[in-house]
Amino acid sequence: MARDHDGSDCVDPVIVWFRDDLRLADNPALHAAAQSGRPLICLFVYQTDDDIRPLGGAARWWLHGSLLELDRALRAMGGELLLFSGSAAELIPHLAGVFRAHSVFWNRRYGAAERKVDEGIKSKLKASGIEAKSYNGHLLYEPWTVATKSNAPFRVFSAFWRAALASGEPGSPLPTPSRPDFSSGVSVSGVGTTKLTDLGLEPTAPDWAKGLCANWQHGEAGAQNRLDELLDEGFSSYAVARDRPDRSATSRLSPYLRFGNISVRQVWHAVAAHAMQSGSAGHAFEKFQSELGWREFSYHLLYHNPDMAEGNLQPKFDNMPWRDDRDALKAWQLGMTGYPLVDAGMRELWATGWMHNRVRMVVASFLIKDLLIDWREGENWFWDTLVDADAANNAASWQWVAGSGADAAPFFRIFNPVLQGEKFDPEGAYVRRWVPELATLPNSIIHRPWEAAKKDLLGMDGPAVNYPARIVDHRLARERALAAFRSLAWRP
Ligand code: FAD
Repeated sequence: MARDHDGSDCVDPVIVWFRDDLRLADNPALHAAAQSGRPLICLFVYQTDDDIRPLGGAARWWLHGSLLELDRALRAMGGELLLFSGSAAELIPHLAGVFRAHSVFWNRRYGAAERKVDEGIKSKLKASGIEAKSYNGHLLYEPWTVATKSNAPFRVFSAFWRAALASGEPGSPLPTPSRPDFSSGVSVSGVGTTKLTDLGLEPTAPDWAKGLCANWQHGEAGAQNRLDELLDEGFSSYAVARDRPDRSATSRLSPYLRFGNISVRQVWHAVAAHAMQSGSAGHAFEKFQSELGWREFSYHLLYHNPDMAEGNLQPKFDNMPWRDDRDALKAWQLGMTGYPLVDAGMRELWATGWMHNRVRMVVASFLIKDLLIDWREGENWFWDTLVDADAANNAASWQWVAGSGADAAPFFRIFNPVLQGEKFDPEGAYVRRWVPELATLPNSIIHRPWEAAKKDLLGMDGPAVNYPARIVDHRLARERALAAFRSLAWRP
């Protein structure tokens, strides 16, 4: 057992400050705190006053569930999660003093505002003689550890990923601390804890989260179940089936990774072990690894381009003649554009807080190119509606589709929403699920309902008649987008 410098039996505790790492397993900060032999105080601050981008509605809902589950897990081990609301910059140093903490440990975050807060707290703690240590609990490779030969950040994914992999195999996950000593003697009365329900993270009037509740299981157990399902349900077909929104072929681990209900190291090593055992999943594993690689690359970009959610990574896009069309934006948000794959995706997003990656690319391309609406409008909508809304992945992916990002798809590559539907949802199962107005249309026209003959629409109780007409003609919209893009060449 640790003893304090004054030799007393009363041992000063270690505070574990949970943030985007809402789990017990492979949690380096928690692990180090448990190893210290000191009593632990586990806490979370809902940061409302630190100039950090506020969470969107769906992410707040996810956070509520994650905090509830983390508290349950800690209680099962004899501890609890103390909750606070306000400015972490003020609260953490204050609480460290109140609890007479020996140390404060946390896992690192990579957004500029978060880093600024964390650096300020570290200096304040150190100035008060309190140990402050941070760890990597969120990434396989931290952004500053992967650099070009001239020590610059990477702008091209393949080169980044090759360099990252060459720097070594990601470390093995740490176990859940077996019998941590919780600081039971510490009084929390008067320190200003708050109740989870008082954080107001769940929607009330109206309660729009019923679809989310039906689709997700919170916490570490939820994450582990998703991982097991991925591996049990034919992971070997991941490389080919991952582009099919009509199948359940991807992991759906994104919100768990976002909030750290599972670590990327745990996922990496579980999938690697599965691939080794099955012997047939090598290609799938490589593809899956590279998707995790895109997540790493997005964090690399965020770290080196702190305002990635606001500013084009390629400045020439600053002159893009975006259209301000509120009606078109609304139709896109509501899934009422008249393009079945786009509408299915936007409705899946609204109902479940998640959307398949292929469809994310199609709906993003539709907003940016067919509607010529600024990618930031889309980034904002996703920020509010995705349970996995992630400062790095969301902004990097929107800029990738827009063509304004690093290693982005060229602007002139414009997805045709009809052909994408026919290729990746060939029987229309995905569209039928999310756009019930079209459920009875034959496969041949499900992605182009405007070609339905009157006889296809009649005698079907007429639901397809209620489906909106196309808000733009893709062929004309494509020409308009290309003209706008060409105009960048001669704009100053
Ligand atoms: P899987 O295919 O099972 O992949 C495993 C994990 O790898 C994912 O959970 C995710 O963490 C990571 N990953 C997979 N694809 C990508 C990718 N292209 N870029 C970065 N990481 C990836 N992902 C988010 O996590 N949060 C976002 O806010 C987000 N916004 C996006 C916005 C747009 C416009 C687009 C095109 C993509 C966005 N993505 C975002 C990336 C991707 O769509 C999701 O990560 C993926 O669909 C999650 O599903 P999954 O967990 O089943 O993925």
